[in-house]
Amino acid sequence: MTLVAAPLPRRSCSTVRIGAVLVGGAVPIIVQSMTNTDTADIGSTVTQIAELAQAGSELVRITVNNEAAAAAVPLIRDGLAAQGVTVPLIGDFHFNGHRLLTHYPACAEALDKYRINPGNVGRGKKKDEQFAAIIEIACRYDKPVRIGVNWGSLDQALAARLMDENAALAQPQPASEVMYEAMVLSALDSARQAEDFGLGHDKIILSVKMSGVQDLIAVYRKLAVRCDYPLHLGLTEAGMGSKGIVASTAALAVLLQEGIGDTIRVSLTPEPGGSRTQEVIVAQEILQALGLRSFTPAVTACPGCGRTSSDYFQRLARQIQDYLREQMPVWRTRYPGVEALKVAVMGCVVNGPGESKQANIGISLPGTGEIPVAPVYVDGEKTVTLKGETIAAEFQKIVAEYVVRRYG
Ligand code: SF4
Repeated sequence: MTLVAAPLPRRSCSTVRIGAVLVGGAVPIIVQSMTNTDTADIGSTVTQIAELAQAGSELVRITVNNEAAAAAVPLIRDGLAAQGVTVPLIGDFHFNGHRLLTHYPACAEALDKYRINPGNVGRGKKKDEQFAAIIEIACRYDKPVRIGVNWGSLDQALAARLMDENAALAQPQPASEVMYEAMVLSALDSARQAEDFGLGHDKIILSVKMSGVQDLIAVYRKLAVRCDYPLHLGLTEAGMGSKGIVASTAALAVLLQEGIGDTIRVSLTPEPGGSRTQEVIVAQEILQALGLRSFTPAVTACPGCGRTSSDYFQRLARQIQDYLREQMPVWRTRYPGVEALKVAVMGCVVNGPGESKQANIGISLPGTGEIPVAPVYVDGEKTVTLKGETIAAEFQKIVAEYVVRRYG
């Protein structure tokens, strides 16, 4: 069934341009990702950025952690341009960002945005100087900045001061509340300081990432009502496999449903040998499941049960899902609107015909003991009944022809 409920209206905020991509305002929520290659390894980094962009990442972040990485950035940009990849690049800076951006102007120029973490800019008096140096370079090259506060590297001096103030109160707040406030204040104070140093209000994006789902929801709710900067959402250190996917989805879905969040990243730890692009696909699927954006035609598949003892329908659902995803880089431009296509692959007659009629194209495979035929429904009407060894290939052909006819 098609849902008709919708998330709450998006929180109002400014719009920030990152290369050719806009974030915030009324712009659809943007998906971003981060490489895990050594940035100094230009070939591997170019390859991975191209893969992430191909998977649909609209912004890609790379770490710029040392001189070799900073020297590599313009060459990475050139390597991507040679492949026709124009995805905006974000440089992630910690501890030495002021030095790298100063000594490697081509790096500062080639990046489309800088991400800095107030807890890792510097210590004591140097912190302000180094922060000012980064902001001055951002102003010089007209680059936006994400001020990304992270629970694991929160400004300890600020946290300690707030804890002391809280302890002196007649009725102290719980420690968690004080820490949330420290996260929010660190982001807001740094944004104000950046504006004092000359950075435009419309050049700032904020994030306050935490690793606990409830903590993340609480801290973003606090931040959302206290500023109008666009917000980057992400659960930091989400973890591996289903744990990381579920935790990220749980946290982001609550906030997105409340209209909070303008760009998202799903920080998954890849399985050994697994593709980095999984974080892009999960981020897209979160937005698509919430009805906020459409990226890839949706495949509805039943979970299977004792009424179907074969895994044929599972394999067909997987094959169709993979086929649709592989076609999308070309289909996206050739067949506008195809991302809203709905395909159903069902395991037996119980829900098969019903779900198939609700989809644009559906197939109801035979369950155990049923006549071995598979009726196909197109726009709610039964059009053909498939049987034999070629069901999968014929169904895929029907899907492809429908796409050309409907969206061509
Ligand atoms: S459609 Fe049939 S096979 Fe699939 S879950 Fe429902 S009853 Fe089971």
